[in-house]
Amino acid sequence: MMRLRNCRQRFSLPSPVLPLWVDGIQDWTHDRDAMRHNSTNSSDGDRLRQARIALFFLFSLPILTAFMAAQNQPAVDPSLPPPPHEKQVRLKHILVIGQTKGFEHDSISDGMVAIYNLGHDSGLWDATLRTDVELITKKDLGRNAKNLDYFDALVFVSTTGELDLDDSQKKDMMSFIKEDGKGFVGVHAALDTNYKWPEYGEMIGGWFDQHPWFTFNAPIINEDPTFPAVRHFPSAFIKYDEIYQPKEWSRDKVHVLLSMDPSKLNYANNPRVHRTDHDFAVAWDKMYGKGRVFYSTLGHTEEAWSDPDIRKMYFEAIKWALGMTEGSIAPHPRPQLSGDQH
Ligand SMILES: [Zn+2]
Repeated sequence: MMRLRNCRQRFSLPSPVLPLWVDGIQDWTHDRDAMRHNSTNSSDGDRLRQARIALFFLFSLPILTAFMAAQNQPAVDPSLPPPPHEKQVRLKHILVIGQTKGFEHDSISDGMVAIYNLGHDSGLWDATLRTDVELITKKDLGRNAKNLDYFDALVFVSTTGELDLDDSQKKDMMSFIKEDGKGFVGVHAALDTNYKWPEYGEMIGGWFDQHPWFTFNAPIINEDPTFPAVRHFPSAFIKYDEIYQPKEWSRDKVHVLLSMDPSKLNYANNPRVHRTDHDFAVAWDKMYGKGRVFYSTLGHTEEAWSDPDIRKMYFEAIKWALGMTEGSIAPHPRPQLSGDQH
């Protein structure tokens, strides 16, 4: 009854129609009963009744159609997808840059898509994916283009070489991190980028200097299992990846999260090994002014981005850079490894 009343409210009947409709129901009921008793009488009264029955069906059809339609409209079904073009509101906005002016990694698309999906599936961020650096500015670009003021973190996915940034853009990018306290996450070749921009190296923690073992089963140590981005890794593990040797890098200026086990590396006949301390960091975090910075060399291969461990690491790293979680930023001494510990 409640639904019928709602239906009438939505499609209100003109006042002369309602009694006709009610009469029609009565006449139709009467004729149906009469036929059951084999009544064959015909009169003016019968013709009037038949006309009213016809009118009854004529007016009933749209009402019944509307009623049926109303029955088919659920109030709210949360399992249904939203209507097309409905804007999804996410907590944060990140700008993902994949510009390459040097080596081109096949894994850039995999990395960018993974970072997009990690935000989309969690509902924590939306990601703008670009292979140019136009949006790295605080200038108003017009055309509905977003600039750094819109974003909460910047992610460089295997960028290489000297990016197309002019002095104004470089100033805005550093101000975005240092003064605005926004996040920066560098993936793999982000360390092989902007050699002619000293502040970039200072911000990220150093630069690339060869990958002495190319892509191999890297023996990795977890130096801070309390940090959100590496909490899921065991104390020692193997990952098939390309590990960079950092230069102009010091563990005194960063908080090392992952590093290679120096006792398990082969140094023989390897002219690409330049670090005499054999301190090869795999992931670290640091502050740059008010902004949080995370870097890891993991993510060289396309397959790495299907690895739940690597996806989890960057997911948690971006969350941390966005200020959603907490972790240490204090530099610490190199762990003392005994020969049989691993
Ligand atoms: Zn690589």
